[in-house]
Amino acid sequence: MQQDCIFCKIAANDIPVNVIYEDEYLIAFPDINPVAPIHLLVIPKKHIANILEATPEDTTLLGRLMATIPKIAAIAGLTEDGFRTVINTKDNGGQTVHHLHFHILGGRFMTWPPG
Ligand code: 5GP
Ligand code: ZN
Repeated sequence: MQQDCIFCKIAANDIPVNVIYEDEYLIAFPDINPVAPIHLLVIPKKHIANILEATPEDTTLLGRLMATIPKIAAIAGLTEDGFRTVINTKDNGGQTVHHLHFHILGGRFMTWPPG
């Protein structure tokens, strides 16, 4: 837990969110500023600043995050039409919260390339 990290506070239930899915390792909740009709964030409960900071010890955790996306997408009703999963990393990636998170975006067609 990093004291000044908003996502650590969410993971610790210090800041309440509408929990879409939660287990021992991760939590999924709606983005406060959605850019799609369905916009969820999936975070590990462990503080990892970004994907570059993940260590070999985190490999199982990263696998759990990825492997749980289908379950979260199913809960959100996104499996039929599809969705996009995004990890923003540091400045050029557009990362604004420095606790690793996956965006799950759905409910509309996503254009490519992204902006
Ligand atoms: P990033 O730009 O770092 O990839 O994504 C951070 C995301 O976190 C943004 O989409 C932003 O709207 C969202 N966000 C920032 N603060 C909060 C918060 O307190 N609660 C929730 N639910 N989302 C947040
Ligand atoms: Zn954190």
